[in-house]
Formats: sequence, C-alpha cells, structure tokens
Amino acid sequence: MNKFINENLLKMNTEEFLSNIKKAFNEVFSNGNIEKINLMKYLSEEKWKNIKKCGLLLPFLPEKFGGRKNNQFEIQEVLRIAGNYGVPITLRTGIEGALVLQPLVEYGNQEQIEKGLEMIFNGEGGGLGITEPNTSGSAIAKEMQSYYEYIDENTIHVKADKYWQGNSQSDFLLVAAKEKKNEKISKIISLILVPREYITYDVLNSEGLKAVRYAVNHIDADIPAKNIIKLSENKANCLREFQNIFIRSRLQLVGMTHGIMEFIIKNIINFARKEIDFVQNELNEIKNTYEISKIMYNYTCNNISPEKSVADKLMEANILKTLATEYTYKAAQIAQKLLGAKGFETGHPISNVAIDFRPFTIFEGPNDMLYAEIYDQFSRATTSEKKDGIRINKNSTIYERFLSDKRFKKFENTFINNIINESNELIKFLKNHTLNEIDQVKKVFVGKILARLFLLLQSESDNVIKFLMRDIRKDIIDFEYNE
Ligand SMILES: Cc1cc2nc3c(=O)[nH]c(=O)nc-3n(C[C@H](O)[C@H](O)[C@H](O)COP(=O)(O)OP(=O)(O)OC[C@H]3O[C@@H](n4cnc5c(N)ncnc54)[C@H](O)[C@@H]3O)c2cc1C
Repeated sequence: MNKFINENLLKMNTEEFLSNIKKAFNEVFSNGNIEKINLMKYLSEEKWKNIKKCGLLLPFLPEKFGGRKNNQFEIQEVLRIAGNYGVPITLRTGIEGALVLQPLVEYGNQEQIEKGLEMIFNGEGGGLGITEPNTSGSAIAKEMQSYYEYIDENTIHVKADKYWQGNSQSDFLLVAAKEKKNEKISKIISLILVPREYITYDVLNSEGLKAVRYAVNHIDADIPAKNIIKLSENKANCLREFQNIFIRSRLQLVGMTHGIMEFIIKNIINFARKEIDFVQNELNEIKNTYEISKIMYNYTCNNISPEKSVADKLMEANILKTLATEYTYKAAQIAQKLLGAKGFETGHPISNVAIDFRPFTIFEGPNDMLYAEIYDQFSRATTSEKKDGIRINKNSTIYERFLSDKRFKKFENTFINNIINESNELIKFLKNHTLNEIDQVKKVFVGKILARLFLLLQSESDNVIKFLMRDIRKDIIDFEYNE
C-alpha cells in the first residue's frame, strides 16, 4: 500500500508535516503565482497532483493503509491551511479526503481500496455521487432512484443519473445506488466504484467554484460486481452507515470553513476603509464570527478521532455544519460589501468568496433541514439514554430537556450557567414551550437556538457570548413571529 507514499512524509512530526504542506501550497499559490492561477478556471491537475504528493491527503489515510498516524488535528489543519488559499482549494481537499478517501477505506475491501488509492494518489482522484437531478437531495435516502442489478454473479448493471458532483470528469466516482431485485428498488444502499470509462457527462455551468469541476453524470452500463462497496452486510444498517459518512464529513467541514474565515480576514484587512467607524464595526462582526469559528474548530479537534465511530454525534455534526457555514457565509457577505465596487471586479482575491461559499449552506444537507433535525435529535432519547431505559416525556419543556441532555451538560460551566440564568429572555423562552408544541416550522428556529446554545456553553469571551445571545434573541423573535 505504501507504493504511492513518500516514506519521509510519514516520519515527520506534526509540525514538520504541516509546514511542508504550507510550503507546497506557497510554491503554487504565493510569490505572484496566485495571479497566474485563475481559480475561475479549473485548477491544473499537474499542480494539484504535486500538492498531493507533498502529503495533503495523508492525514485522512489510516496508518494501516500507509497514511499518517491517526490525528484529527492534522486532518483539520490540512483543510484549514488549504482554506487560506481560497474556497475551491479547501473544497477540493475536503472532497477527496472526507467524501472519497475516508468512505473508501472505511467500507471498501482490500482490492477496492488499493484500486481507489492508486487513482487518488497517482491520478486525478474521484468524487462522491449522491444527488440526483430528479429527486430531492435532502430526502435522498428515501427518494434515490439510481440502482444496480445483478446480471450474473460477476456483473451488475448500473443505472444512475447524478448531478453536482465535485471532481466530475476525474478518474472515478463513488456512486450511491440501491439494489434492484425482482423489478423492485430495495432499501439496500451501496457505493459503487465507477471508473471514468463507464460515465458520460454533461458539464454543469456553475455560478462559482469554477476550479472544482461539476457535471450531470450518467451511468447506464454493465460493470464488474466486485466494484460494489457494501456499506453493511446487514441491510438494516445500510442507511445508518450511509448517514455516518455525512456525520464525519460535517464534523470535519469546520476545517474548511475556519480556513476560509482566515482567508477572508487576511484579505479584508488590506482593503477595508478602516478609518470609517461603521467599517470598524463590521470588521468586528467578522472578528467575532472568527472567534465562534474557533470554538467549532477546537470542538472537532478535541472531541473527534479518525479511528472512533461518530455514529453518536449526529446532533453535534449538524450543529457544526449549520453554524460554521451560516457564520462563514455571513462574514463573506460582509467582506464583499466592505470592498465596495472592488468586490465586483473579476479576479479580486475576495470578489468571489460569497458566491463560492454559498453552496456550503446547501450541500451536505441544506441548513434549514439540519436545524430542524437538530431539534429532532434533541427531543429524542439518545442511544445511551435508550440503553439506560430513559424515555423523553414530550410534555416536558425545552428547558427540562436541555437540563437532562448530557450532550449539553458536558460543557457545564458555572460562569456560563450564570449568564444563561441571568438571560431571562432565553430561560423564559425555554421554560415556556413544551416539546410537543413544536411544529415543522418552529423546529427550524428552535434548532437554531439549540445550536447557538451549544456553542454558548463553550464560549469564554464576553464578546462571543454577547454576539451569540444577540443571535439567539433574533431566533426567538422569528419563532414568536411564526406563532
Ligand atoms: C456547489 C455544489 C456542490 C455539490 N457537491 C456535491 C457532491 O460532490 N456530490 C453530490 O452528490 N452532491 C453535491 N451537491 C448537491 C447537494 O448535496 C444538494 O444540492 C443538496 O443535498 C440539496 O439537495 P437539492 O438541491 O435536491 O435540494 P432540495 O432537496 O430540493 O431542497 C431545496 C431547499 O428546500 C429546503 N428544504 C428541503 N428540505 C427541508 C426541510 N426538511 N426543512 C426545511 N427546509 C428544507 C432548503 O431550503 C433546501 O435548500 C452539490 C451542490 C452544489 C450546489
């Protein structure tokens, strides 16, 4: 397995390894080179391969397959460092690392892993094909129409139309499809490693992210059955494993958003008219947003581990994904505003940041759907509560559930608890509403409040607490407006 990896990269300590990655990026993107690389066009494969050869994806690869020692911090750092060079750069790192490499090594067999890694490390890599043009991406597990059917024991027929795959036209796609048996599409979802030769595509003309190729991909072909990557031998677990792919990638996504926040701050300082008081105020908004981003970044570094299951972290993953993307998008919009007309010039380092970033609030689960899910996960018993025989009384108030939920209790901190208790408005709101009165619309607003509360409990700075409390107040107003 080590044939594609330079052994020296494995011997380096974390500091040496990360500074080597930075050097690789600087060689391509700094010293005037950034002007020569037009990220409004597709990034040169040769340049990208050179960065990968310097170890960019090694933190995502477990040691037993020739990667670095398990270290969540390194995963987050490579995503963050890549974000310092622009949105498409970190997205491409995230797609290949978290959406392709990690699922491949987690669910693939030896032969599939070897084949996939060869294409990832020595070729153009791959993409993950989930979303379809004719079904809802939000309800994909239920509505998915793509299927595979056994023709004989060695061959399957795959019929799939997938769209918006990052890294389309590269060496392969991991395509999600359901097994068709006796003319019926079953609930068994698998990933199929589909090499480029079986895929036809129509290029998608995207509004931004030009450096990441997108397409509508079509597969209607007989391919070897050994390319099926089973998510579970047990069909009841397929769906859960399918979801686990997204739990991990949502938890890790904050590496990308944190890097992009740094990219925004680094660039806006050079261009904003700091002598104007209100501009200073807006710069402070960005700074506070960055502080919030840091809390989320640290959460993943300190609570997630590449070798440990994340199945119990769905609520936390949804909190991080929604808030990291909501706040980074907000910072991107402020930054573009502060540039005035310059923010509309093609080629300006941050003229495209908001448009490139916007889909982060949509992919990996649209934020509003995830806010609603945060509420669902909060109001249901967790796996460990179920094991202990605990049931959630739907007549209890949100406040009572908040007090009993260990995922929030974990951050118990007297300082913060005092602040929350002093905030009559928030406590009153939590005490005034019972779980059984929350309908589909209200779920989104309560999900937002819970998400911010989760971060509030981990905040140490007065400014961040004030900032989050202001947003919680706004969510309460939205909730009440919809009553
Ligand atoms: C730039 C970009 C990159 C992408 N990369 C990939 C990729 O690499 N691979 C891949 O397979 N797909 C990818 N996608 C597709 C993406 O994952 C889907 O667009 C996403 O899952 C949403 O699905 P949809 O577009 O079908 O929206 P829909 O499911 O139709 O939802 C539309 C909108 O309805 C609202 N909504 C839906 N459900 C709810 C709910 N329950 N509660 C509240 N509101 C709701 C939300 O506002 C949502 O945005 C990408 C998309 C973009 C734009």
